Amino acid sequence: MAERILIVEDEASVAEGVAYTLGQEGFEVAIAADGKAALEKFESWRPDLVILDLMLPRVSGWDLFAAFRKTREVPVIMLTARAEEPDRVAGLEMGADDYVTKPFSMRELVARVRAVLRRSAADDAEEIEGTMTKGGVVLDAEKHEATVSGRPVELSPKEFDLLAYLMRHAGRVRPRQEILAAVWGESEYVDERTVDVHVRWLRKKIEADPGNPQRIVTVRGVGYKFVDGE
Ligand code: CA
Repeated sequence: MAERILIVEDEASVAEGVAYTLGQEGFEVAIAADGKAALEKFESWRPDLVILDLMLPRVSGWDLFAAFRKTREVPVIMLTARAEEPDRVAGLEMGADDYVTKPFSMRELVARVRAVLRRSAADDAEEIEGTMTKGGVVLDAEKHEATVSGRPVELSPKEFDLLAYLMRHAGRVRPRQEILAAVWGESEYVDERTVDVHVRWLRKKIEADPGNPQRIVTVRGVGYKFVDGE
């Protein structure tokens, strides 16, 4: 089945050009010219990837991005007219999967789209099998065992799942709500504070200094990020 790409862009010429090219490449495409249409399409059509222009009328691309992220984890490539480094950094910090500066070539955009979709498919496929090693932490899925810098640590099943989830998405911020949905499921009687509490417990077990975490860092107002550095 063709992957669905939602293009959020008010400039018709750009949106249509992108839609035409991606259509030629075999993708299913839809265009939303404003925030309201974008949110509706995001909910009802369930795209596999969103190309989001940051410069939109009435609603900021950032707000829209946050709204997408609250709903569902779908890769987002941001478009902007300016090559402003702070924007780029903020975008990636917030969890955008890639960033393209206008003017861009269609070839470049298609390459980015394919790369992001590949990466996101790989993330999904990485559901615990065998072992995963990141940032000095080794998780053994079969035995449900963890070692940190070679030292075994005891984790509860939820702590294990939470750590596995954050490690799978290493380097990218995961909003609390998404963590909750992924690790606890939507239906259970828990809220975002549950995530905070479990992160605190995890830090005591896997951080050298839990008060100054280097592996699971807080991204204020958003969520948590596993840092894959040694
Ligand atoms: Ca625009």
